[in-house]
Amino acid sequence: MRNLVLALVTSIVVVNCSSSIPKFDRERAFSYLQQQCDLGPRYPGSEEIELCRDWIIDVLKDCNAENIKVQEFSAEIKKEHITGKNIIASFYPQMSRRILLGAHYDTRPWADKDADPQNHNTPIIGANDAASGVAVLLEIAQNISQTQPAQFGIDLVFFDLEDMGEYGDNSTWCLGSTHFAENFSGPKPEKAIVVDMIGDNDLDLHIEYSSYHNSPNLVKEVWDLGRELGFSEFHYKINNKIYDDHIPLIMKGFNAIVVIDMDYPFWHTIDDTPDKCSQNSLFVVGQTLLNLIYE
Ligand SMILES: [Zn+2]
Repeated sequence: MRNLVLALVTSIVVVNCSSSIPKFDRERAFSYLQQQCDLGPRYPGSEEIELCRDWIIDVLKDCNAENIKVQEFSAEIKKEHITGKNIIASFYPQMSRRILLGAHYDTRPWADKDADPQNHNTPIIGANDAASGVAVLLEIAQNISQTQPAQFGIDLVFFDLEDMGEYGDNSTWCLGSTHFAENFSGPKPEKAIVVDMIGDNDLDLHIEYSSYHNSPNLVKEVWDLGRELGFSEFHYKINNKIYDDHIPLIMKGFNAIVVIDMDYPFWHTIDDTPDKCSQNSLFVVGQTLLNLIYE
């Protein structure tokens, strides 16, 4: 009898535990990717990036996010003055333990990796390189607005001016995250995770070198969770250093990593379009992050 009671208690605990983790809605997430691309290229200085920014803020308001802020900064790019605007929002700001999730929302104005040189000054749609990360963050926002995580409050940051750099000069990339990190005050989040280029329908998530070097435990936690969920897209293999929005965070002492699949043949080409992306890839990353938030 005692054994039976114990078994019952155990199964109830197990059921409660798994049912309290929200399920990532891959269809809604993909619609967020599509809606960004429907606006057109969203590069700094364009009308479309303004529309995208307003749209992100509208979704965040819809999710009852708190302290929604636009953090402005100025930048000089190719001798042109540009105002960058990061979008910052909080969920459950009263909770002291925090996780920060980041993604850039600007798209590159030049398809300069396109096979056809005639396209090198054409702005990209950025379905994978921008829209995918934003889509995952906004779908997570929907989930956390419905169910308060037991342990963590969440901060979302949508970085601007990630993608206007010159190849070989790190100081020209990731300007929004650099401004954010350099002006951050207050206690740092326990964990900071940047997602970028995670919509590829041929998704392979290798461990990024600097993430592992700086935050091996956070890398292990995320990759272990992904594998426990049965996602073979997570590979325990370290790849090259990638300069993305996690680096300025790391340089300012954050426990930060990036989740990225750089093996994407349409990177910085006019073919970075929604048909190269999949609902399932957004789900793999989004559900893993939800499990991290709710465990
Ligand atoms: Zn890019």
